Amino acid sequence: MASSTGTVTSGPAAPPRSPQAPPAFHLLAKPTGAICNLDCAYCFFLDKEVFYPGSKFRMGEQVLEQYIRQLIESHQTDSVNIAWQGGEPTLMGLDFYRRTMDLVEKYRRPGMTFLHTMQTNGTLLDDEWAAFFAEHNFLLGISIDGPRPLHDVYRVDKGGKPTFDKVMRGLRLLQKHGVDYNVLTTVNRVNGDYPLEVYRFLRDEVGTTWMQFIPVVERINSDGLTIYQEGTTVSDRSVQPEQFGRFLSTIFDEWVRRDVGTIYVQTFEAALSNWLGLANSGMCVFNTTCGTGLAIEHNGDLYSCDHFVEPDYLLGNIQDTHMIELVASPQQIQFGLDKRDTLPRFCRECDVRFACHGECPKNRFTLTPAGEPGLNYLCAGFKDFFHHIDFPMKLMAGLIRRQREAREVMQILERAFTGVERNDPCPCGSGRKFKQCHGRPLPASGSKPLPASQSRSGAAAG
Ligand code: SF4
Ligand code: SF4
Repeated sequence: MASSTGTVTSGPAAPPRSPQAPPAFHLLAKPTGAICNLDCAYCFFLDKEVFYPGSKFRMGEQVLEQYIRQLIESHQTDSVNIAWQGGEPTLMGLDFYRRTMDLVEKYRRPGMTFLHTMQTNGTLLDDEWAAFFAEHNFLLGISIDGPRPLHDVYRVDKGGKPTFDKVMRGLRLLQKHGVDYNVLTTVNRVNGDYPLEVYRFLRDEVGTTWMQFIPVVERINSDGLTIYQEGTTVSDRSVQPEQFGRFLSTIFDEWVRRDVGTIYVQTFEAALSNWLGLANSGMCVFNTTCGTGLAIEHNGDLYSCDHFVEPDYLLGNIQDTHMIELVASPQQIQFGLDKRDTLPRFCRECDVRFACHGECPKNRFTLTPAGEPGLNYLCAGFKDFFHHIDFPMKLMAGLIRRQREAREVMQILERAFTGVERNDPCPCGSGRKFKQCHGRPLPASGSKPLPASQSRSGAAAG
């Protein structure tokens, strides 16, 4: 086995570069495979353990070194993102990441810069971890599903105990050490009914300025499990389509009235990019094609995407074939093009296709009104959401095109809505009454009780 400071004696050399090879790509590394210290009920990845029977689920020295070397060799850009995820990546221990830093130094080309990122549940962090992240300018993603009663519904440990306090402790440590972080909230059947409670909690109590909202869509396989992207029914934890649309629209209404330019919601930023007609929205799910966001398992197996870590989407192993050859393989190129080429007619003729692009192929398992397969399960929600934000998005895109600040939209909307009566048509042109569209009142904080009874922990609202 090669040491992290020694010479790698095995592993494929970089091949001549194929014209199909992208100059840069995103690779999520799973050094512990599916192993996690928590047992979140909706986690799509925990079940993946079945693909590696008998494995210790730890990325070894040799794989780590080949991974870093090949990742750097595969990039033609000076900037490389090294992204860790899981399972729970902190289970590898800090020394693993210290060795990673040594390897980056060993293989970097002059002028290269690295963005180190990690998605973690935050429960194992301490001062030493936080100081390390700060020293190496890591960007941390912390998973939290909202205030305590919403978070603890599904995000529990192996004993079924709540995790809210441990996550918050981890978050405060990152803040104390000045580590860059954002939050990732999975939107499920329970917290999906509490958009403002979730948003205001993240903004006002956590104090974050960068949020991601990811819908939980768990497909039930024929054997009742959720291991494969197969099946046309979903678990009762999965967010419902209209519910997800309402969730996004409600948060958008609050954001566009007071938080533009200070709070960043990934979905809204991606939408604005699409309203501006940019080539890349910043979110693969809202791009025309995909295929440049892959996943690597603890043993070097490379898969088409984090959501398709299953045998049909295994491209190969980097110990046998160089990473760039797998990234540029016909199988992977086709995977990325299929996002566009398998869209049903209903999507191809959709007036918000430019913003939605049929979202992620993993969620395309329902029928269109004409009976064509391949419609996104969340379609109704996305249609509502993208129509709802059309007017403010056009305003923001117009401002940016004229070299002005998108945040000016807040004053423009205030002026446009001043004097409009509740029953008047909404100035956005939707044809709906103002009170049912952009004049919908946003309830005050605390006006809607949180579902303490649904919390597995039985904990009271925090
Ligand atoms: S399959 Fe979905 S999540 Fe994966 S890269 Fe494509 S759009 Fe993104
Ligand atoms: S909103 Fe629905 S019909 Fe339109 S592109 Fe998205 S999934 Fe397709």
